[in-house]
Amino acid sequence: MLRVALRHGVMDGDPAQSPEERHQAALALLQSAPDTELYDIRWIDAAPPTRHRTLTPVQCSRCGEDVAEDHAELVDGRPVCPECMADMRQATIRGATADDI
Ligand SMILES: [Zn+2]
Repeated sequence: MLRVALRHGVMDGDPAQSPEERHQAALALLQSAPDTELYDIRWIDAAPPTRHRTLTPVQCSRCGEDVAEDHAELVDGRPVCPECMADMRQATIRGATADDI
C-alpha cells in the first residue's frame, strides 16, 4: 500500500510569528513547495483501510427524526434517537414511565 503523509514538522512554522502569519506561511508553502519536500511517500506493508460503512437511517419512533441506525436504541423493538432516549431517561429518573413521555 502506498502511504502519503505530511512530513513531520513541515507545517510548524516560526513560533515567533502570530497564528495568522503561520497560517498564511503554511498556505504559501503548500502551494509552492515540491511534493517531495512536503510529503513522505513510500510503499508500506499494510492492508488498505476497510471501507467506511454507510449508516442506514431509521426513523425515531418518538419524534419522527431520522437517526443513523447505529445511534438508535431499541425500546419495545422500535428505534429511538439519542435525544429522545435522554428525555426518557430523565423522565424515568423523575418517576414517569416510558408511556408517559
Ligand atoms: Zn427522537
